[in-house]
Amino acid sequence: MLLSAFMRLSDSSTHTPDLPGVAERRSLYPAAATFPWVEALVDCPNATESYIYRIPNGMAVEPGDILSVPFGAQQMGALAVRRLMQLPEGLSVDEVRPVEAVVGHGFFPPGYWDLLQRVATAYCTPLMQVVRTALPPGLLRRSQRRIRISDPAPLAPDDTLSPVAQTLLTVLRQSATGDYTWTYLKRQSPRANQGLRELIQGGWVRSYLEPPKAVRPKQRQAVTLTGASPLSDLSPRQREVLEVLRRQGGELWLQDLLQRCQTSSSVVQGLEKKGSVTIQRREVLRREMTATTADQPQTLTSDQARVLAAIAPLRHYQSILLHGVTGSGKTEVYLQAIAPLLQAGKSALVLVPEIGLTPQLTDRVRARFGDRVLVYHSALSDGERYDTWRQMLTPQPFVVIGTRSAIFAPLHQLGLIVLDEEHDGSFKQDQPAPCYHARTVAQWRAQISDCPLLLGSATPALESWHRAQPTDSQSVAETLYLSLPQRIHARPQPPIQVVDMRQELRQGNRSIFSRSLQEALTALRDRRQQGLLFIHRRGHSSFLSCRACGEAVHCPHCDISLTYHQPTPEATPTLRCHYCGYAQRSPSLCPTCDSPYLKPFGSGTQRVVEAVEQQFPDLRCIRFDSDTTRTKGAHRALLERFAQGDAELLVGTQMLTKGIDLPQVTLVGVVAADGLLHLSDYRAGERAFQVLLQVAGRAGRGDEPGRVILQTYSPAHAVVQAVQRHQYDRFASEELHQRQLGFYPPYCRLVLLRLSGPDAALVKQTATAIAERLRTAEMGQVLGPAPAAIARVARRFRWQILLKFPLDVAPHTVDWEGLVRSHCPPQVSLTLDIDPLNFW
Ligand code: ADP
Ligand code: ZN
Ligand code: ZN
Repeated sequence: MLLSAFMRLSDSSTHTPDLPGVAERRSLYPAAATFPWVEALVDCPNATESYIYRIPNGMAVEPGDILSVPFGAQQMGALAVRRLMQLPEGLSVDEVRPVEAVVGHGFFPPGYWDLLQRVATAYCTPLMQVVRTALPPGLLRRSQRRIRISDPAPLAPDDTLSPVAQTLLTVLRQSATGDYTWTYLKRQSPRANQGLRELIQGGWVRSYLEPPKAVRPKQRQAVTLTGASPLSDLSPRQREVLEVLRRQGGELWLQDLLQRCQTSSSVVQGLEKKGSVTIQRREVLRREMTATTADQPQTLTSDQARVLAAIAPLRHYQSILLHGVTGSGKTEVYLQAIAPLLQAGKSALVLVPEIGLTPQLTDRVRARFGDRVLVYHSALSDGERYDTWRQMLTPQPFVVIGTRSAIFAPLHQLGLIVLDEEHDGSFKQDQPAPCYHARTVAQWRAQISDCPLLLGSATPALESWHRAQPTDSQSVAETLYLSLPQRIHARPQPPIQVVDMRQELRQGNRSIFSRSLQEALTALRDRRQQGLLFIHRRGHSSFLSCRACGEAVHCPHCDISLTYHQPTPEATPTLRCHYCGYAQRSPSLCPTCDSPYLKPFGSGTQRVVEAVEQQFPDLRCIRFDSDTTRTKGAHRALLERFAQGDAELLVGTQMLTKGIDLPQVTLVGVVAADGLLHLSDYRAGERAFQVLLQVAGRAGRGDEPGRVILQTYSPAHAVVQAVQRHQYDRFASEELHQRQLGFYPPYCRLVLLRLSGPDAALVKQTATAIAERLRTAEMGQVLGPAPAAIARVARRFRWQILLKFPLDVAPHTVDWEGLVRSHCPPQVSLTLDIDPLNFW
């Protein structure tokens, strides 16, 4: 674990090893003498909770310190989490043992534990759960406990020891190094525990924590073109592979090459035998190294310069909303705001909605700042996260780019926090607790670090926009509002044409493409341009249904139809549940009526691709959805293929709305906006507006003007009207007015209680009883209880209660324990979602 990564705890209690990245000790807390107790995380796999220890007189302990503590018969490493004035109830003074020594300081930046504590309090979650969210998985578990023979040995003869102790000693003496892992020793005797205690007490052996092995960077196979061997020797397939490799600059990862060419490794091995390519194991491609030195800051437009001039001088906490239309150059502003900070030795944190969907942003940050950039997100392996975490503890400045949990990156000296696409819902964690919003946590972190917080979006969340409005003519808004109202080089926003699909049908057009979209698609090919087709999927719509009885095949554990998967025409089709993970082969007979007439009802994207193939055989499509982007790196590979012109159309879902900046895209078609318009929660309008305007914003980012065709059955819908006119401000103020009338955020606070359990009646009964208590206690406005939108997931029945509080009531001040938790039987689990965004 962390502790042992840098030291052997048993070595000495006075010696402070040289810890990389340990800042000098800053005391933010009152003198330690006022805190007699400390709560610590013990480095032991069996220790699931934290433990309380006494701080001996004269010892100073601060949160984040590394301690040596007694644990059972052992001395163990531990992490001081917080100090306490009083012992928790039920614990008596003589049960509590003292801290043995403080062995390391300053692993966490100043204020870090205050941040975790604040998250725990505000989201009504135990601190330990927050600690687990914040620290990389395995950080507290990665070391091995080892036992080593003491040198010199005690004077007492061996036969004073019990037989089991003697056995262990004999085993240890046979080891060349005089030590073994405890796991190994334990297997030598059922009573090893007792033997070990005896050996430690007698001074025969000592126990220590071995630093985890440094995680070796993963090596991958790289294929390099040699240029040798005449083409005439090669099969057409091999020639094709060489051609792809040549177009890629002569070097690719084997995996990428195979994916691009849809071929097997034997073809490439054949090429190696003929000397046309070499295959080598490598950590990085040379190309990746060189790409990072290329990028230089751009000369800012006057709008960008104005915005940067407002941000750059800020040295203290200030939240800023950068409202810049799509393609207005927000990223360049972020980069130029960060550059001087790095020079001054400060770090910056850049949060993005999803790393996979924003390879272009990540690339640009890397291209600008090279090896100062660390990428941190949950798709990294545990080892990679652990290594990155350790690197962040060193005192150099970094730019950390990551997803929501990166808000907990242990950076010292934060100079700026940026949230790109701050309106995006993936900044909110729905489960497990803490159900935090990274934007809110970012605000606290910026306050604690006393640095600016920059929120960037073309379609700000209404909460953020609201905060940037002065409440009356006298007051100053909480958030500084800056805008980039124009695209770079004054490129026009693409005009948005709304097509009434009811009219199309009336006039005899039964295609899913309106005549306008058909014309635009025909023109694409002629002009050698590219387009995006956007389909909104509500839930997962590719399922297997029976043409005889009309039933869809459902998950046996959840109230949801199973998703039909067939990534390629040759693959065996499977059915999967997206909520509980259940999977089965696609059945040949209907489970309801035994008829053989089962028909996969394709996903939105699949159906659109088929329709394009039928009506426009000249146009090549790439499908970009959760089916085709399942594997790591698939987003990037598909986007690269599209960027290189392997297809004219990219057909996809919500993913298309994020981070695609391709100058050759001139057409965006929204195949059907309706699914998006008619969702049922209070934020549906806001979300639909954001998605539609974002996807529209992908068109016309290059020299050629773009156009957007939005097909809908509700052309008069307020969202459609606002999108068509690119009217964010008007939409926002009207929507906010509705929220105020309906008493919804940002004019109130919401808390969603989610209850679930295997016994339907018990869950319902509990939900009803709790709602009743909340009503009697006059706890805000109580809505429900009601079954959740998906009433059963993974065999658990789900109910919800929604609470609305006036703004002056902080939800964490409610006595949840007394009012709610204590009335929840053990068979029913309960999650409190403070400020929920998702209601499924
Ligand atoms: P946004 O994030 O606001 O959608 P980007 O930062 O992606 O916009 O910028 C859009 C495009 O304009 C990018 O291709 C970017 O390289 C380019 N760009 C940004 N700033 C400038 C500038 N000052 N001069 C020239 N090109 C710029
Ligand atoms: Zn049937
Ligand atoms: Zn399921």
